[in-house]
Amino acid sequence: MLRTNEHRSCCCDAYLDGDGYDPNEEERAGNVRIVSTAEPGWSMTYRVQCAACGREFIVKQIDGPALQWKWVPRGVKRKSGQR
Ligand SMILES: [Zn+2]
Repeated sequence: MLRTNEHRSCCCDAYLDGDGYDPNEEERAGNVRIVSTAEPGWSMTYRVQCAACGREFIVKQIDGPALQWKWVPRGVKRKSGQR
């Protein structure tokens, strides 16, 4: 079983460093699953889950000269060090 609290590395780590990953394309490629989306528009958010490790992300689509996507991991559970 995969344990999300011992996250090491996964293909989804790349999303954290880049802002050019379209969640729709990633889903089409089978890398992620779009759990839900906000109201469709130029600036909207997606809730996305990695198909490999199950990590969830909030993806903010940012309108600009080119569309960008900010991927923020969500629901990262830590057993210790909680504040
Ligand atoms: Zn992953």
